[in-house]
Amino acid sequence: MTFLPCLEVNRLKCRMPIRITSAPAPTPTLIRNASVFAPEALGLRQLLIGGGQILWVGSPDEPAPSIPNLETIDLAGKRLIPGLIDGHAHVTGGGGEGGFATRVPPVPLSRFTTAGVTTVVGVLGTDDLARTPGELLASVYALREQGLGAFAWCGGYHLPPVTLTGSVRGDIVFLDPVIGVGELAISDHRSSQPGFDEFLRVASEAHVAGLMSDKAGVLHLHLGDGVRGLELVRRALDETELPARVFHPTHVNRRKALFEEALALAKRGCTVDVTAFPVDDGEDAWSAVEAWERYQASGAPPERLTISSDAGGCLPTFDHDGRLCKMEVGSAHALLDTVRALLARGHALERVLPAFTRNIARHLRLQGKGEIAVGADADLVVLDAAGNVADVMAQGVWHLRDGEVLRAGLFENAQADRA
Ligand code: ZN
Repeated sequence: MTFLPCLEVNRLKCRMPIRITSAPAPTPTLIRNASVFAPEALGLRQLLIGGGQILWVGSPDEPAPSIPNLETIDLAGKRLIPGLIDGHAHVTGGGGEGGFATRVPPVPLSRFTTAGVTTVVGVLGTDDLARTPGELLASVYALREQGLGAFAWCGGYHLPPVTLTGSVRGDIVFLDPVIGVGELAISDHRSSQPGFDEFLRVASEAHVAGLMSDKAGVLHLHLGDGVRGLELVRRALDETELPARVFHPTHVNRRKALFEEALALAKRGCTVDVTAFPVDDGEDAWSAVEAWERYQASGAPPERLTISSDAGGCLPTFDHDGRLCKMEVGSAHALLDTVRALLARGHALERVLPAFTRNIARHLRLQGKGEIAVGADADLVVLDAAGNVADVMAQGVWHLRDGEVLRAGLFENAQADRA
């Protein structure tokens, strides 16, 4: 991986001109005395990082392999976890459901890294017209150039799906970052109201393209508030040969009854995605924290739950006439907030982490992502005693040290953007 234009933070204080500097190559690093959650708890470990990958993991008293110019960092027992993976982020900015002025701007690099997110999957949403697959891919490539792991869903809310190559199959097979199709909207007033046959056609394209390209080939489904819920997915499982893993519904915690449907599908082999959006008291929805707890208690397989942020997307409230009356903007920070809230409720970090790391990496077949192991990418997050992000390394390069942003996108004011 070559790290191209990125800006040192001190340059951001200059008004003009903007100087483009090359990102540093990953420095060989020995991380000592890390309390490693891989996501399982490994206890105190040393990690040798080189070439953007984890080269060696050893116990504290083992002699580490020697490498020239090695930088050594002692974490003094702080927790080290895999970088979080956000499987649903509007990297171009989403929104636009209340007029053009409600289009959300693109999400800059440090909004992800300060949240401990080192891998994102970009998505188009309601607006798959003014925003295009080309724009999405350009945003994904920009994040890659800045050192983040970045992938994309092709298509958007609507049918026929918007693509670059002319088909879902073509986009998944021929475009490296594209790992599936979505977020196709169902049971939502903003959807194309897809019929069963149209729905199956898209799912089959994703599945076959996944086989051809050895990618996930997943249909990522936006669920709205409609009472039809997950009916199309149930019918697909009942009436077709398509494997359950092809269907990956998201926002399944937005209605309590919908969440029960999702639990039933998880038991049939689907991986289901909870969104870490804010939930008001008395609302007919589960927060991500409540959804995680209910999922674990349900007996559904723990590896089939993922949690994403909807970063950059608008979180709208519509009136009975379908008019936007309120909106909030999703943030990648919601993921770590959810982790912290679950820890505060007494859940063990090693049980909490998989929904944000290994589960999504395995489901979307993101090689080298989602765990701390020899051969994995060096995507690492150090948590301080309060569970805040202290340090972040993405593919062997530090983006955050002691809470300070070291690397930011070209056009962002990194300090102002920190939440
Ligand atoms: Zn959505």
